[in-house]
Amino acid sequence: MKYSFGLLGYPLLHSLSPRLHGAALADMHLQGEYRLYAIPPDADGRQTMKRILAEMRAGEVHGLNVTIPHKQTVIEFLDDLSPTAAAIGAVNTILLDSGRLIGDNTDAPGFLADLEQVFPKSRELTNDQQNTPPQALVLGAGGAARAVVYALAQTGWKVMIAARRPAQAEQLAAELKPAVGELWAVPLEDHALRDYCTLARLVVNATSAGMLPDVESCPWPTGLPFPPAAFVYDLVYKPAQTTLLRRARANGLQSANGLGMLIEQAAVALERWTGLPVPRQAMRRAVEGLAASPATQDISLQTND
Ligand code: NAP
Repeated sequence: MKYSFGLLGYPLLHSLSPRLHGAALADMHLQGEYRLYAIPPDADGRQTMKRILAEMRAGEVHGLNVTIPHKQTVIEFLDDLSPTAAAIGAVNTILLDSGRLIGDNTDAPGFLADLEQVFPKSRELTNDQQNTPPQALVLGAGGAARAVVYALAQTGWKVMIAARRPAQAEQLAAELKPAVGELWAVPLEDHALRDYCTLARLVVNATSAGMLPDVESCPWPTGLPFPPAAFVYDLVYKPAQTTLLRRARANGLQSANGLGMLIEQAAVALERWTGLPVPRQAMRRAVEGLAASPATQDISLQTND
């Protein structure tokens, strides 16, 4: 059998997904391709998306990932959602189940799996029934924040969402509340965070601040001390060392970038499509140097298209 997988998004120039999936398939001795489907968010794009989804329903495509700007708009074309995708309100993976297209979300389990790797104490903190739940501060309230907030709240963190547009944080807190319970929203600014964040054990950057090419940008307010016992996780992985991570390390904090999450969310998707265990190490080897290098901007990926 030759597998056919792909990614729906726009633009897709610098996606690492073909390399990740290509490396895993090779290591698993499976034949297959991973195509990039660059689908603009317009009427022509909707038609193209419908055609590709019809191919999947017919069994010609075996699995699809979805990225910006289609994670929410794709939902209307699907037959059902997994409980995780329904709670988060966004789909990053599409599965075929008896001819039906199921929208799933592997960003949440991917983030949690990597967090437990890089910050093993996270499990200890959330398993500790004697103390109050550990506090996590999530910066940003966009698509990635939805998955991260859901994942953390589900696993016992008390989650505070900080966004530069406080209304966006409040809306996210209100939308996720039915699935995960109480969440807190604060403005992403010095004086608001100063009162709230000192006890945080985890800070997650789910904004795009610091991502190439805007590498000097940092979501953490200048002059605001970092919570002294926090682990700092930056979803951004291009560059590997963001300004936020540099500042956190300079303040003696442990930290990690989002490359592990990228690998995990891809691995979980491939596991769901094939039903087989997926080799994370092979995936990591395929992208580690690339994601670490500023030259990632210039990577031209093989797209099989
Ligand atoms: P998104 O939906 O566009 O949301 C971005 C969020 O960041 C919004 O809340 C936005 O606020 C905020 N923001 C942008 N620049 C900011 C700044 N300078 N200061 C403060 N807030 C700022 O994007 P997304 O899909 O959530 O992705 C966010 C980041 O996560 C991206 O860098 C993406 O590459 C990364 N990501 C990584 C993984 C992984 O596997 N590692 C997975 C998903 C996403 P406004 O709405 O006010 O602009």
